[in-house]
Amino acid sequence: PPVIVWFREDLRLSDHPALQAAVATGHPLICLYVLDDETPALHPLGGASRWWLHGALADLRRTLGSHHGTLLTLKGSAETLVPQLAKETGAQSVYWHHRLHQKEREQDERIAIALKTQGTAFEGSWGTVLLDPAQVQTKEGRFYQVFTAFWKAFQAQDVPEPLRSPAGLSFYPLSESLLAQYRLDESTLLPTHPDWAAGLRASWEPGEKEAHEHLEDFVRHDCSRYGKGRDELSREGTSRLSPYLASGAISPRQIWAALQKKGAHDEGARIFLSEIGWREFAKYTLFHQARLPDTSLGQKFEKMPWRKSEKDLLAWQQGRTGVPIVDAGMRQLWKTGWMHNRARMIVGSFLTKHLLIDWREGEAWFRDTLVDADWASNAMNWQWVAGTGIDASPFFRIFNPTRQGVKFDPDGDYIRQWVPELKKLSGKDLFEPWNTKEHDLERAGITLGKTYPRPVVDLKEGRDRAMAAFRSL
Ligand code: FAD
Repeated sequence: PPVIVWFREDLRLSDHPALQAAVATGHPLICLYVLDDETPALHPLGGASRWWLHGALADLRRTLGSHHGTLLTLKGSAETLVPQLAKETGAQSVYWHHRLHQKEREQDERIAIALKTQGTAFEGSWGTVLLDPAQVQTKEGRFYQVFTAFWKAFQAQDVPEPLRSPAGLSFYPLSESLLAQYRLDESTLLPTHPDWAAGLRASWEPGEKEAHEHLEDFVRHDCSRYGKGRDELSREGTSRLSPYLASGAISPRQIWAALQKKGAHDEGARIFLSEIGWREFAKYTLFHQARLPDTSLGQKFEKMPWRKSEKDLLAWQQGRTGVPIVDAGMRQLWKTGWMHNRARMIVGSFLTKHLLIDWREGEAWFRDTLVDADWASNAMNWQWVAGTGIDASPFFRIFNPTRQGVKFDPDGDYIRQWVPELKKLSGKDLFEPWNTKEHDLERAGITLGKTYPRPVVDLKEGRDRAMAAFRSL
């Protein structure tokens, strides 16, 4: 009988404990992916993530093909399809990696019960995080709510070494007719009309090999100056590993091991690993606090008088707020499916503070447009930026977009790249066109309100409004 490996957010062959366990049985494999849009409690994938998934599935299928195997992709409720596939093929067992959110774990439990009832075994292991999130606890047996304490306790533990790609794979022959009515038409993952993915195609190549190339490239060229380089908006000073991590083309343990090799004494490597630590902390928090994506963890913020303004939200989404550094970030996101971390903080602060719009609106837009959209990291960072989370930046820390721009995009290259209509402005004018002299605007070919918007909010008024709302709590 075959054994089933159920791929989820782990679309790779190397360092794949579930695959390794399945191969160890010596039985032929069925490699499965299920796109489950039918279970409402689970977060649906956004548009950019679907685009990425299309490439990641094709890559995994190619790799399996080089071992004379293939990938079966189905669409529907995993609760129905996984047990049904096991039954129809007489599979002996199903292998997967644990998921984090309570609703996902509950679904896995229901599937496990269904499998058990029909006599199919199952085995879960940890493959998407560095450590089992139940393993890192305070002395009192509670979970950590502050990153630095979490990270200290985490580092006292041993991270397992990554596994190699398994050799000698054998596959179970799948018949065309098997669950034919549930086959996923993978082309439906791609946009049709309009085709908004041209910039994504130009920016990214999903795949396991590409993930490792990014890692090697980063370790070789950018890692040692990461501490400073990660904040420079116009440089590619970061690893751009996030979409590969989100889809599981590379595992955090592989990154961990590669960086350990480089040496923990390298300051850049140490800071980089702590960012991998933030990813871990986000997953850990999602595991322990299921309300992270939906509810402000700082409870008083559930009473925050957020503004509802379709017009302002749309201007933010479309990169037409009239605040250049904000618009640059939002346009980079729309064009490439990714935004620099510093820009994410700037646009996040602007939305939740200057515009006083609920962080969940920002979270939802990012979830739909980021190729690295991650349920845990996205929600955790939005709550951090908005100041509503645990261990978050305090609400009254309101980024001044101009100052942020001057500091992290000193030559204005980031703004010029993404907001080209302003490219003839220089100095502070580039960051504050509304304060620019009329004849300087004219010379640069800019008419405010026509070729570039006036700011949707006066920065000082927006700031005062946010502080008043905060004080009202
Ligand atoms: P690098 O700087 O090279 O970092 C390496 C890896 O560390 C990243 O790939 C990522 O996995 C992890 N990492 C780095 N910073 C963070 C962080 N602050 N929190 C958690 N993990 C981190 N990251 C996502 O992966 N998915 C999201 O949906 C997401 N949403 C965000 C929303 C907001 C409002 C903000 C402020 C940040 C968000 N981040 C998210 C975190 C961060 O911006 C991205 O992980 C990072 O920019 C990805 O680029 P990189 O791979 O080059 O990062």
